[in-house]
Amino acid sequence: MNILIKNVLKTNKLTKSYNNIYAINDVSISLKEGRIYGLIGRNGAGKTTLMRLVAGLSFPTKGDIELFGYTGRKALEVERKRLGCLIEYPSVVGNMTAKENLKLHRIIRGIPNQEIEDEMLNFVGLGEVGKKKAKDFSLGMKQRLGIAIALLNNPELLILDEPTNGLDPLGVADIRRLLKKLCEEKNMTILISSHNLPELYQTATDYIILDKGEVKKILTLSELEECCNQHILISCEQPELLASVLETKLNTTNYKVMPNKDIKLYDYLDSKETVSKVLIENNIVVTKFKDEGDTLEDFFISIVGGASNV
Ligand code: ATP
Repeated sequence: MNILIKNVLKTNKLTKSYNNIYAINDVSISLKEGRIYGLIGRNGAGKTTLMRLVAGLSFPTKGDIELFGYTGRKALEVERKRLGCLIEYPSVVGNMTAKENLKLHRIIRGIPNQEIEDEMLNFVGLGEVGKKKAKDFSLGMKQRLGIAIALLNNPELLILDEPTNGLDPLGVADIRRLLKKLCEEKNMTILISSHNLPELYQTATDYIILDKGEVKKILTLSELEECCNQHILISCEQPELLASVLETKLNTTNYKVMPNKDIKLYDYLDSKETVSKVLIENNIVVTKFKDEGDTLEDFFISIVGGASNV
């Protein structure tokens, strides 16, 4: 069966400069339906600028945006009705309850369906907050209310700018669950930014690493896991024998044979001498034997260079 996965958003060499300084430069990305994209970069990398351009809150200096297959200023205006955005701060009125805030936004945006208010409050876990005013909400509750506001029009693409910023680990986990639910139950595409790769790790299905306004790397979660999975890399003349020795003498199948016949062993990281002893006993001549795999932080630094704040 040929399943056509639609491009929800495409940018082509998107550029925005302020006084000849590039906030983003030549950014070309494409977002596919039903996936969660983590936009990762240090402060000032250009994440908010990119999101504002897509949302139509500012205009590009150069380059194009295509939304749901349409491009051009007029068409984008129409297609942007299919977006939900939480960019910078949630626009929440402190003296109103969660429900009153949702009603206000629903009316401003001309959304007739009144039931959506309760539906979204329940969806983000604020169904029980009742008469409590938004100014008395925790940061996590405010962020979830901001997400509920962004969801009022049942968007197909949800754009969230650092929604986990300042949240404690439980708050981060709440947002993570919420995003996965949106993706699974509504097949929503989500673009979420963060300066913290570990915080977004495993939430997103794809990662776009931005630095100094430029895309440095785009990779899937499994590619990221592969880069960050600690292992012992072993090269030898007899890879088939090595695989069999790992299974029969070291009782592990937790290894992978790479296309060049190197073997990545994910066990025995703390007892490498046991591995090397068994290899010698079985007359395996090793040409390479070393630790590999980055921490998420090391990986991020290897892409963007310098010190990080992840
Ligand atoms: P943060 O994590 O701190 O929010 P960010 O990755 O979202 O950072 P942006 O806010 O997009 O980064 O900023 C990218 C660069 O563009 C920064 O150097 C910023 O100073 C600059 N910039 C953004 N908006 C403007 C503006 N309106 N006028 C001038 N410079 C701007």
